[in-house]
Amino acid sequence: MTETTRPTTAAQMISDAVQDPKERRRYLGLMDQIKSEGLGANMAIVPLDAAVNWARESSIWPMTFGLACCAIEMMAVGAPKFDLDRFGAGAFRATPRQADLMIVAGTVVYKMAPRVKRLYEQMPDPKFVMAMGACTVGGGPYYKFGYHVVKGVDKIIPVDIYVPGCPPRPEALLDAIFRLQEKIDVQRNLKIRYQGN
Ligand code: SF4
Repeated sequence: MTETTRPTTAAQMISDAVQDPKERRRYLGLMDQIKSEGLGANMAIVPLDAAVNWARESSIWPMTFGLACCAIEMMAVGAPKFDLDRFGAGAFRATPRQADLMIVAGTVVYKMAPRVKRLYEQMPDPKFVMAMGACTVGGGPYYKFGYHVVKGVDKIIPVDIYVPGCPPRPEALLDAIFRLQEKIDVQRNLKIRYQGN
């Protein structure tokens, strides 16, 4: 089974989150000081962005939402064999207002497209979208003759991660979750908001 490589210690979080070597040394020095005072087991100093990202990437809530055969593979990821809960992303929500990940699993037809867009718009920010399967990525087996199929869900909503395959294996979706966690890990929303860079 695939293992996640995400950081688990404060020192790793600092090394990943702080690019400036001088700043990184300062954080690591503070961590050493905390450890030397015997507080290492209870305290950590990390950039706020890193702590927020760590919490966010460890508690992704996908929306309960499936359109065709790919959704069966998505359901398999939540079942005991693949157990998406191990990576903090197994709490599928029954409403877009509580979800931050839309896995578009299945064929998007033109009749469904406005509903998909509406559900996306009802999700609060920050939110992410995965295009799961060949149909969603670019029309798949319907590309040539499927006049009723949207040739890629990115024509109606922005897509963060593409998962190719017809259908993709559950391992592929797990890997996509890891890629999304890596993407969240490097976000600098607070730094940009309060420091402007
Ligand atoms: S990509 Fe293949 S398995 Fe997935 S919805 Fe389309 S036809 Fe079905």
